Amino acid sequence: MKVTLLGTGDAIGTPVVGCNCPACIDGKNGGRSRRYRFSVMVESQGGKRVLIDTGPDLKWQMLENDFSHVDGVIWTHGHYDHYAGFVEFHRIQRKVDVYGLTQTLDYILDYLYFLKPVRHDVSMYESFYIGDLEFTLFEVNHPPMKNVAGVMICEGTRKVVITGDTCKDIPHRSMSLIRNADLLIADAIVPSGFNVTKHMNSQQALRFAQDTGAKDVVLIHLSHYFRPHDEEAENLPLGYDGMEIEVL
Ligand SMILES: [Zn+2]
Ligand SMILES: [Zn+2]
Ligand SMILES: [Zn+2]
Repeated sequence: MKVTLLGTGDAIGTPVVGCNCPACIDGKNGGRSRRYRFSVMVESQGGKRVLIDTGPDLKWQMLENDFSHVDGVIWTHGHYDHYAGFVEFHRIQRKVDVYGLTQTLDYILDYLYFLKPVRHDVSMYESFYIGDLEFTLFEVNHPPMKNVAGVMICEGTRKVVITGDTCKDIPHRSMSLIRNADLLIADAIVPSGFNVTKHMNSQQALRFAQDTGAKDVVLIHLSHYFRPHDEEAENLPLGYDGMEIEVL
């Protein structure tokens, strides 16, 4: 499968409006510190395309990555930086199939009622298929919100795990499910040394990758508190918008 990081930013993205820190200046100048809000595209070998979350920058992500149709959208939770861009399907694609926990779908579809997507309620730890891709939602820890999910995607023997928004302590059942991923895409909102309670910092995310035996890790949901991308990426496996990873 192919994974494309459409948006690697945190809830407000980089550059931050009104900020002139080094990362925001790099972002304004077109550097890789420019980060749209969260969205990840997963593409099967058979050509099925599934979006994990639809952040508010989806229109530009569609234009820059040249797609106007998806075979499904999976929502991890009901924070606006993970669903608000779904409105960009308006007059572009009718009848989008959307997947998520019942509570998440109730919340998001109340807001997006006028779009009438095709609703698929799924349960934590119960796998489902979109084309030849097998998805399983697993419980993470993103206080104070409850019922927040990460996503495991399997194709043949290959396994990709996206933590979504979470802090480092997730349930044991999830830890054992996601073991030995070929690729882990992990939330790391701030560099090491920062205290966070709803997310992981980069050190916690790398430790998380080690603890779950991930063979490869990429960090996303990144804020402007990191140094400009090219400097920081010398030491940390930071993702960037438009990054493509083949997991074969
Ligand atoms: Zn978020
Ligand atoms: Zn800034
Ligand atoms: Zn969140």
